[in-house]
Amino acid sequence: MAGSPQQLTLLGATGSIGTQTLAVLALHPARYRVYALTAGSQWQALAAQCETWQPRYAVLADEQAALSLRNHLQALGSQTEVLAGDAALAQVAAAAEVDTVVAAIVGAAGVRPTLAAVHAGKRVLLANKEALVVTGQLFMDAVTASGAQLLPVDSEHNAIFQCLPPCAPGQNARLAGVRKLLLTASGGPFRTFTAEQLATVTPEQAVRHPNWNMGPKISVDSATLMNKGLELIEACWLFSVPPSLIDVVVHPQSVLHSMVEYDDGSVLAQLGTPDMKTPIACALAWPERIDSGARRLDFTRLAGLDFEAPDETRFPCLQLAREAMQAGGTATAVLNAANEVAVAAFLDHRLDFPGIPVVVAETLARVAAPACTDVDAVMAVDAAARQVATAQLTART
Ligand code: NAD
Ligand code: MG
Repeated sequence: MAGSPQQLTLLGATGSIGTQTLAVLALHPARYRVYALTAGSQWQALAAQCETWQPRYAVLADEQAALSLRNHLQALGSQTEVLAGDAALAQVAAAAEVDTVVAAIVGAAGVRPTLAAVHAGKRVLLANKEALVVTGQLFMDAVTASGAQLLPVDSEHNAIFQCLPPCAPGQNARLAGVRKLLLTASGGPFRTFTAEQLATVTPEQAVRHPNWNMGPKISVDSATLMNKGLELIEACWLFSVPPSLIDVVVHPQSVLHSMVEYDDGSVLAQLGTPDMKTPIACALAWPERIDSGARRLDFTRLAGLDFEAPDETRFPCLQLAREAMQAGGTATAVLNAANEVAVAAFLDHRLDFPGIPVVVAETLARVAAPACTDVDAVMAVDAAARQVATAQLTART
């Protein structure tokens, strides 16, 4: 490592990815400095992080929560300045002092701050897949225009990134000789459930993932396979491939994190324990390698590696996502918005599990999804889709 420490902004610092990023940073105090930490409304969790990391800024999307954090930190004599609102999130993502932005807000709430980092030409470590799913072409055009360096944190995409020849995401020169991207899926906690059993599963069961410890929204997405659908869309944009070049393979042990198949029959895979600290550390240090603190893979203790095809009849979300990507325009923004509404309703016991793909499919059928050339227009489509999806929740009860 050469030069002064990298300055980081963590968008979504209090979440699963945010806290695991800080755990990796803690192993490398000379290498990284935290410029800003941000969260939605969890000010107590952010306060504890500020005491440890002493960032220049702490930002909360929620104004009231920011007030509580400001009072708390002032009483402690902290030097951290507290800001609030969407403009402040964008400001700390684009600040001149910042080298690297970890985009780990959940959902479309991350679109504008993540795009602010991209427009400012930062090194952007992307966990917030929804930002890319919602804005697609706009996002990748902004990467090209600003020269931002986009590094995938999502474990599957990070694996594919490592298995492809070196080249920046979004450029397809590296795809010469590539036949397929093979996206692995754990299958989620309900992989072996019958349709009858799926009808009665609870949010509490859904958030208990067998392999990964994740936030509630992505845990439900993982259970419906919508997570794999969003990841298929994410992979299309990151690696400039059509959906037809991506196969999904269910691999329940989550040891093999995705693969690239080449024309000569070679298949390259990246393996490791199911621990997000590995792809986070990979993206943080790329092209160097640093300790992540993740448990090592012990091949002598692996019981076996299983693979099977996904069941798109019991889990229709994957097909809905593939079709939205094929449809183009802002169909993937509609898909994402409807899914966010449906997942929030499921977590809140207002919608049953099989209702999630029904709400998404109905919303896709009803909302116009034109191609949009600016982010305000995309977010208007997102808002229209949320309205239609919400109306269906009412209609179903
Ligand atoms: P999480 O729910 O644990 O954390 C989300 C973070 O975003 C929190 O810090 C929260 O305060 C913040 N936030 C929520 N709403 C906000 C808003 N309106 N404005 C600003 N900030 C807001 O989620 P997570 O599991 O860490 O996932 C974060 C992102 O990373 C998601 O896009 C997810 O798909 C992706 N991802 C997560 C994992 C994982 O293992 N957790 C793996 C791959 C990808
Ligand atoms: Mg993933």
